[in-house]
Amino acid sequence: MALSGKWRLSSLIPYSRQSVDEDDIKEVLAVLRSDYLTQGPKSGEFEAALANYCGARYAVVFSSGTAALHGAYFAAGIGPGDEIITSPITFAATANAALYLGAKPVFSDIEPETGNIDPELIEKAITSGTKAIVPVDYAGNPAALNRIRELAGKHGLIVIEDACHALGASYKENKIGSLSEMTIFSFHPVKPITTGEGGAVVTNNRSFYEKLLAFRSHGIVKDAAIFKEHSHGNWYYEMQVLGYNYRLTDIQCALGLSQLKKLDTFIQRRQEIALSYNAAFHGNRWFDTPVVTESAQSSWHLYPIRLRDGSSGMKTEIFDKLRTAGLWVQVHYLPVYLHPYYRNILGYREGICPQAERFYERELSIPIYQGMSDADIETVKRTLFDVLGEF
Ligand SMILES: *Cc1c(COP(=O)(O)O)cnc(C)c1O
Repeated sequence: MALSGKWRLSSLIPYSRQSVDEDDIKEVLAVLRSDYLTQGPKSGEFEAALANYCGARYAVVFSSGTAALHGAYFAAGIGPGDEIITSPITFAATANAALYLGAKPVFSDIEPETGNIDPELIEKAITSGTKAIVPVDYAGNPAALNRIRELAGKHGLIVIEDACHALGASYKENKIGSLSEMTIFSFHPVKPITTGEGGAVVTNNRSFYEKLLAFRSHGIVKDAAIFKEHSHGNWYYEMQVLGYNYRLTDIQCALGLSQLKKLDTFIQRRQEIALSYNAAFHGNRWFDTPVVTESAQSSWHLYPIRLRDGSSGMKTEIFDKLRTAGLWVQVHYLPVYLHPYYRNILGYREGICPQAERFYERELSIPIYQGMSDADIETVKRTLFDVLGEF
């Protein structure tokens, strides 16, 4: 199955993958033939479309979801000695971006059924150093955002939502992106839409917006209205903070704009697949199916099953057999604080979040993506039952 060291995706059913069609390709080619490959009109157009889709005032696109997280934490004023409270069941970047700024990620345990941060445990993790709560909409299923906002309000904290899985999801009739002070998206190929690499922060706050723009481009401002010094002439621009080059190219923004038009269709298909799985898996004896938060609509980035006690001890074998059978399953995630860097360099210890550790033992992400055919869906169900039937 290996093809020069890389897996050939066409012979496998992966846990997620992008859909890029001829319209997307046409839009990208048009930019390649134009005057601006970066810092041209496409990034502004993509940002306006994204903000509009989410029902938020501003969007700032970044070169990755990780860069967007870094920007959001910076805009929130997070720095050395500060703490953010987040879920351990996330991609490492959610916590790493706090480390970039000298801040400390504090992990608070999850709800065992959804894999999202448990709002009832957050208060215990708040200290005088806490600046922000960072819920992760795991698998595309919104966290308990109302309760989290309530807590944040009570303690004067900012909510920065890591919605890298959840573009297009909604919570109590509101689109994800309209509910938190800042919301982060990723456009990596496995995420709801793609720009190759890419990300964004969405916000309603003008001050956050201006900080995000500066941070993305070296901390340099070109708008005379916000200069700190007198302009020396029309060439003049000034660097006001230490920023980065975290820009997204116009080539990528054109792809993002084209993809965004198809997002609702993508999610509709993912939802069909989830419903088909839910029906087929109902009452099975090996695993529990995903639970969606009350009053929420998931974007179904992942379909995470949780193996029951009997079979979870066999997970490594089940995993290998599924991959050999052509299902490119994955596990989301090793609790972040159990990575060697967090344990050995930063001193985090096993046992901080028992529910997250248990979730990790049980969880398997089976294939779900908009490009799956009906036959693929049936292949997944059959293969899964065939493999589990041996245990
Ligand atoms: C993908 C992801 C990120 C990072 O996004 P990149 O675009 O890969 O940098 C952060 N948080 C979560 C939850 C993610 O899934």
